[in-house]
Amino acid sequence: MTDRSTERAVDAFSFLGDDLRLSILRVLAEHEERAGPRTDPMAYSDLRRAVGERDSGKFGYHLGKLVGRFVEKTPGGYRLLEPGRETVRLLERGIVDGDADLEAEPVDARCPRCGGDVHVIYADHHLFTCCSACEGLFGADECPSGTLTGIVLPPTAVEQLDPTPLFRRAHRVFERRLRPMVDGICLECGGVVDGRLRQCLDHDRDGICPDCHAAYPVLAEVVCETCGRGRVTHPLFGNPGADGIDARPERRGEPAEPTAAGEAAWRRFGEFITWSASPREDGTVVFEPPEGGSGVVVAPDLRVVE
Ligand SMILES: [Zn+2]
Ligand SMILES: [Zn+2]
Ligand SMILES: [Zn+2]
Repeated sequence: MTDRSTERAVDAFSFLGDDLRLSILRVLAEHEERAGPRTDPMAYSDLRRAVGERDSGKFGYHLGKLVGRFVEKTPGGYRLLEPGRETVRLLERGIVDGDADLEAEPVDARCPRCGGDVHVIYADHHLFTCCSACEGLFGADECPSGTLTGIVLPPTAVEQLDPTPLFRRAHRVFERRLRPMVDGICLECGGVVDGRLRQCLDHDRDGICPDCHAAYPVLAEVVCETCGRGRVTHPLFGNPGADGIDARPERRGEPAEPTAAGEAAWRRFGEFITWSASPREDGTVVFEPPEGGSGVVVAPDLRVVE
């Protein structure tokens, strides 16, 4: 996100920091078709009644402020413009004022690094999946101890599910969010995504490395050049080029545990984390399963080349 668009976003929210303006947007959103082209504007009197504002001068003043930027005035009445819809979506997701609480709830999963118990924590709009027994994968300041993954989710999603289904759903969401980004497309804004391998040149393989703050030497970084949305993952997880790779433990003769619905994404992530990563001279990296055998080669731009 450029400084300019950050300023615009902050400006827009302070502009909207008024309950009456937000209820006008919400009422218009409820009035609309849920999807597809919209035709039906809302008459001034209907809008004012639905909002429930008795003071017509005050209502007219605030509605007037919204027109042009968030609301369109048509001969038949008022309807939302896309920035108005986006604002309502942010409010519904609880991004702006929502809050959900989840403190170290155990989930039905094992740490792929040490086999220890795993729990989830919700903080700063991230669902963190953490190991209770080891250092986990990430040791950055904002990560709780033992962090294996941190996935952005709105509070409303967290409130709707119990810890284990929430944890599974979050990893499915994470995997599917990554796919278009690895392909170079940002679904949030339509922008171009820069994807690259992030290699730690002096990696300490004994737990969390003091240089890169991770316990894995090569990660994939995808960042949208337009809106700045960025994610970090294992270079094979969420990578469409790795779809053909069979990442199940039973492949190497371990007993097949029944896979619960929606558990596949987490299992895949956990498997890849046990693979070794060996950088080569040409900038590519070879990933190999613990039992050896067929390796996978990833190019610096995240393409799976072999
Ligand atoms: Zn662990
Ligand atoms: Zn490192
Ligand atoms: Zn974007």
